[in-house]
Amino acid sequence: ADRLDQVKSLISSHPDFPKPGILFRDIFPVFRNPKVFRHLIDLLCEHVKTAVPKAEVIIGLESRGFLFGPMMAEQLGIAFAPVRKAGKLPGKCRSVSYSLEYGTDKFEIQDESVKPGQSVVIVDDLLATGGTMKAAVELLEGLGAKVDECLVVIELKDLNGKAKVTKPFHSLIHY
Ligand code: 5GP
Repeated sequence: ADRLDQVKSLISSHPDFPKPGILFRDIFPVFRNPKVFRHLIDLLCEHVKTAVPKAEVIIGLESRGFLFGPMMAEQLGIAFAPVRKAGKLPGKCRSVSYSLEYGTDKFEIQDESVKPGQSVVIVDDLLATGGTMKAAVELLEGLGAKVDECLVVIELKDLNGKAKVTKPFHSLIHY
């Protein structure tokens, strides 16, 4: 089958996780199959090479963005930097607060992760309401980076999170 179909066939769905009414999409089954995992990394990298050929840094969002962001960066021959929940990164950091369904959370990035004007691609496993990606865009722009793409494996279309992401956006798979 088509590589994308192979990836899609290994994404499982869990009703009422982590809360009643949520249909959770799980990408971990992909990682149990090295051939399909390789296809996923290749598809993501091929997209970046076409859409953002001059990308300089891959930014991965905690925590599932850490699963493939570094592999992409290595394959593309560019840098990787993490965005983490507040209090986990040493050195000088910039932070941004964002609202969740209940309460708020805070994201941080090390100031030295990107230089002003550098072209970055932000990656995560899934876009739902878009709040997480929006916060990451704010954080990176605060550091002077050029956010040339926001890239996710899965997009939940019904939630229209894409509208919150004011940057070029791409998803491999959508539901
Ligand atoms: P948003 O801020 O777009 O509402 O939520 C996206 C964030 O929540 C992402 O970091 C993503 O990892 C996580 N998330 C929300 N729903 C799901 C889901 O169904 N499956 C997975 N794997 N992650 C989810």
